[in-house]
Amino acid sequence: MPIGARMLSSPVVKTALITGITGQDGSYLAEILLGKGYAVHGVVRRVAIEDPEHRLWRIRHILPRIRLHAASLESFPSVFQVIQRVQPDELYHLAAQSFVGYSFEDEFSTLATNTNGTHFVLAAVKEASPGTRLYFAASSEMFGDAPAPQNEQTRFQPRSAYGISKLTGYHLARNYREAYGLWAASGILYNHESPRRGFEFVTRKVTSMAARIKLGIESEIRLGNLDARRDWGHAREYAMAMWSMLNHETPDDYVVATGETHSVRELLELAFDAAGLDPYRHLVVDADLVRPADIHTLQGDSSKARRVLGWSPTIAFDALIREMVASDLEYYEQAGARAGAHD
Ligand code: NDP
Repeated sequence: MPIGARMLSSPVVKTALITGITGQDGSYLAEILLGKGYAVHGVVRRVAIEDPEHRLWRIRHILPRIRLHAASLESFPSVFQVIQRVQPDELYHLAAQSFVGYSFEDEFSTLATNTNGTHFVLAAVKEASPGTRLYFAASSEMFGDAPAPQNEQTRFQPRSAYGISKLTGYHLARNYREAYGLWAASGILYNHESPRRGFEFVTRKVTSMAARIKLGIESEIRLGNLDARRDWGHAREYAMAMWSMLNHETPDDYVVATGETHSVRELLELAFDAAGLDPYRHLVVDADLVRPADIHTLQGDSSKARRVLGWSPTIAFDALIREMVASDLEYYEQAGARAGAHD
């Protein structure tokens, strides 16, 4: 059942379908595609339609310009019906249980959602819309502890059910490309963040806690492994890389990364500095937050994407984290003002 049915008045260039449109990447990608004149459709869980205030916050501002369809990655018929109905020129399969930490708590649902969900999307495209170009959201977590920097030739050594689920999706997409001629590309994306990042991820946890401590809402921040190093970019730029992949002549797989790494400790120091705080007056190192099998360093070599797609990141880590802290400060200040207004 489509909602948000008022469509563009300008001529439509192409039709795109995004699974995971309510997520961080889906929201930026939808904005980019609308800007290019696409008719944008999104797949959402029924609960999102029933609770739009809560679930659709990242795309509220574009709701009148997109169409949403209810489907679940757990149900092949629901995925099939949406794809058959929309017949997209481009399908961006972003929906997933996307939090590595949670995959240690619940391997079963992570594997089921991510592996079966991707298989359902591929099989549905093959049967119902074989001319569709498909993007699969693979992940740097597929590399696990492989020596850095990693590129498309690096051997995969995933260290979590999440990484394994993404690697299976990646192999499925490849297999559909090679066996059935499906136009399928995988983006092996490294961590990318923004003010729209989920609160469970370490960057958003740190930037939101810096804001909450600054405003006196909290007094401490608990973190696990401060020495883990990640290659962090800006989600808006990574969504642009997805579009570039689907608009290249041939389908292929690409690493998308900045090539720079920073530790969780650097992230903490930078975010707290941006809020005008000394992090070590508030930090509690909590061994319970260290993952059973952590990855020490993820650092991508994206020279192929730079060479073939002409893609390159421009937003520095410092600017990214300062943007997130500024946004979180504004959010909690306004939330405080709203709560005050209700007193
Ligand atoms: P988010 O967690 O912000 O968004 C995940 C999306 O998937 C949400 O729209 C969510 O819907 C949807 N979803 C989850 N489970 C289901 C389900 N069972 N049925 C239908 N929809 C579901 O992730 P990001 O936007 O950050 O990431 C996009 C993709 O890229 C994911 O596949 C992620 O694993 C991958 N990726 C992300 C990286 C990053 O750093 N951000 C790095 C590498 C890969 P709802 O709103 O209803 O929960």
